[in-house]
Amino acid sequence: SIVVTGATGNLGRHVVEQLLEKVPAGQITAVVRNEEKAADFAARGVKIALADYNDPASFDGLFSAGDKVLLVSGNEFDKGRVQQHQVVIDAAKAAGVALLAYTSAPGSLSAALADDHRGTEQAVTGSGLPYVLLRNGWYHENYTEQLAPVLEHGAVVGAAGEGRVSSASRADYAAAAVAVLTGEGHENKTYELGGDEAWSFAEYAAELSRQTGREIVYAPVSVDAYVGILTGAGVPEPLAAIFAGVDASIEKGELVVSSGDLSRLAGRPTTPFAEAIAAAVKN
Ligand code: NDP
Repeated sequence: SIVVTGATGNLGRHVVEQLLEKVPAGQITAVVRNEEKAADFAARGVKIALADYNDPASFDGLFSAGDKVLLVSGNEFDKGRVQQHQVVIDAAKAAGVALLAYTSAPGSLSAALADDHRGTEQAVTGSGLPYVLLRNGWYHENYTEQLAPVLEHGAVVGAAGEGRVSSASRADYAAAAVAVLTGEGHENKTYELGGDEAWSFAEYAAELSRQTGREIVYAPVSVDAYVGILTGAGVPEPLAAIFAGVDASIEKGELVVSSGDLSRLAGRPTTPFAEAIAAAVKN
């Protein structure tokens, strides 16, 4: 089987959808912790496995020798993600899977956010299993799903200075994962994945202005001020610090990925940011 964890998450859903276009549904297993959220997949013939990263026993016997497994990194920042991911890696090792792919972060990213990814990468490569590191760059959706306050205030607020980001859509990263899961010759490869074009926050604001016909400016702030703005808007402090840390990394150029790996694996150019903005502005 091709087995996808986090299958009911945003990225995992794209992966399963794109797998369904390439392989019979019965060859796909979606690992989920909430069966109802996966009812649509089950109805289409995808096998469903119930498991939780916090419950090692739930992964007992879940994988089989020969499976190709995509471990989608979790989102529970406060629960020890390396340990959570280790549970999946241990189960994959016990089964002797044919491939273990992991959705990581760019090798250039020094922000605290990257720590869990580095720790998991070590566990993956140390497992002795054939692995693939999919070092995903930033998502367009990190911005296009947060448009309401930007449009309300007429300002993109961030602590990224004049730094640039080569973001791509979740669907683009999913296409790379699907290429690895359904193709050959990816064993023990590390892919640095990012969009074909990098943009600055000032260019983002200008594009929003162009598309909405309203004046939207970039208001650069310091990292500390940005943490204050985020917590003021209700974001918990630890998470605000993580987001602000990412902006600091953007200022340093750490989220520009210019390897070309993403469009090469996807077999097409990545989704232009302006296109993602247009789709979001229309909604
Ligand atoms: P989502 O938050 O939509 O999905 C996270 C998935 O992980 C969900 O399916 C969730 O299950 C699953 N999950 C979380 N905790 C557990 C657990 N304890 N046991 C089993 N499953 C669990 O994130 P995305 O799909 O958008 O992104 C995928 C991952 O990429 C994120 O989890 C995060 O690590 C990382 N990320 C990357 C970003 C980038 O720009 N590159 C931005 C944001 C995150 P359920 O569906 O039940 O909630």
